[in-house]
Amino acid sequence: MAKVEKDISREKSGQLFEEAKGYFPGGVNSPVRAFKSVYGTPLFIERGDKAHLWDADGNEFIDYCCSWGPLILGHNNDAVREAVAEQLHKGLSFGAPTALENKLASLIINNNQYLEKIRFVSSGTEAVMSAIRLARGYTKRDKIVKFEGCYHGHSDALLVKAGSGLVTFGETSSAGVPKAFAEETIVIALNDYEALKQVFADFKDQIATVIIEGVPANNGLLMQDREYVQFLREITQENGALLIFDEVITGFRLGFEGAARYYDVKPDIITYGKIIGGGMPVGAYGASNELMSHISPDGGVYQAGTLSGNPVAMSAGIAALSILAQDGFYENLEAVTQKFVQEIQAYIAQKEYRVKVFTIGSIFWFAFTDQDKIQRADEIVHESMEQYKVMHRELLNRGIYFGPSGYEVGFISAAHTEEDLSKTIIALQESLDVVFA
Ligand code: PLP
Repeated sequence: MAKVEKDISREKSGQLFEEAKGYFPGGVNSPVRAFKSVYGTPLFIERGDKAHLWDADGNEFIDYCCSWGPLILGHNNDAVREAVAEQLHKGLSFGAPTALENKLASLIINNNQYLEKIRFVSSGTEAVMSAIRLARGYTKRDKIVKFEGCYHGHSDALLVKAGSGLVTFGETSSAGVPKAFAEETIVIALNDYEALKQVFADFKDQIATVIIEGVPANNGLLMQDREYVQFLREITQENGALLIFDEVITGFRLGFEGAARYYDVKPDIITYGKIIGGGMPVGAYGASNELMSHISPDGGVYQAGTLSGNPVAMSAGIAALSILAQDGFYENLEAVTQKFVQEIQAYIAQKEYRVKVFTIGSIFWFAFTDQDKIQRADEIVHESMEQYKVMHRELLNRGIYFGPSGYEVGFISAAHTEEDLSKTIIALQESLDVVFA
């Protein structure tokens, strides 16, 4: 085992973090960036190129966080950069329609059998918040059902966690969310048929929508069985409730048609974020013509945005999605990911380490467990996060950047080369040796 005696230098990152604490709560503009679940101060990043990142201290990393998913083409992709640069000379924002919006929309809709119309917004949170409003406006019902372990952004209705009992009203998971709002959100466990049946029995004719992540990937990778997702489709339909797939992570990641295609289940509304903007702030929600006709200005469900359909962001999205729409893109990326995961799984099996690597498409997740399946949030052993912390530190010391929490999944991009992946496998082997020493 090549032992790393010394941690990487974080001198400049440390100074920047101290300064940042004077400006931002916790020194960051999004909580998980604060590295609270792993060792050391957060790394301040200076630049990225392909699969690589460089921090303020000059440390270089192979990146598997990929900006939390958007960068399926890696950093500084030539086509995306050029498209953005070209638009920069024409103007940053007009607050008026542009042909670029049409182009990105046509690229999406013409390659997606599950959508007829979409609306662009500026983040995943906004996309989901708007989709929920559409579902409520359309059904004229107020209650929504979400699953423990799924994250859908930080809007009030969705910052709700399960109460005690199989089916109860949720409890707010953030200060500042009114109790009355939480009472409109019912939170149940994933993969629990009985809970779902009971929800619809208890709240008959009151449920506007059931929302689920395409594949829950914000609290580990909680892979659901196709039968369960099909059951979700059936029970919502039978009860006049809409089914929302939140595909902010899985959209354009599991394939151009995301999880809907993977399960072969047509949801009523799909939400997007992350990859759709090629690294720029874009979100979207889409549905049938009929449903979308309820959105303003056509219908009574109000939703708007000063920077919605922003031309620079649209240009990035068009460039990125044009590459993703090419034949074989996803097959290649998945094959690369499979090989990577299999190699590390083989090492784990040989050493009999108590860790599993779950994977789908180009997403992977390390779980320090001997369970063969983890489908619900409460099946994750929280103490095992201590082992992730050690692995994370060891990986950083070996030039590999994973997300700073054991609940976060990793992403492989089309920019990861064979050399990057081989180096990562060695680093992972050495890091796991330290975890299990
Ligand atoms: N939905 C899902 C499934 C997500 O993973 C996220 C973000 O991680 C969101 C919604 C919120 O998106 P954003 O952070 O762009 O607001």
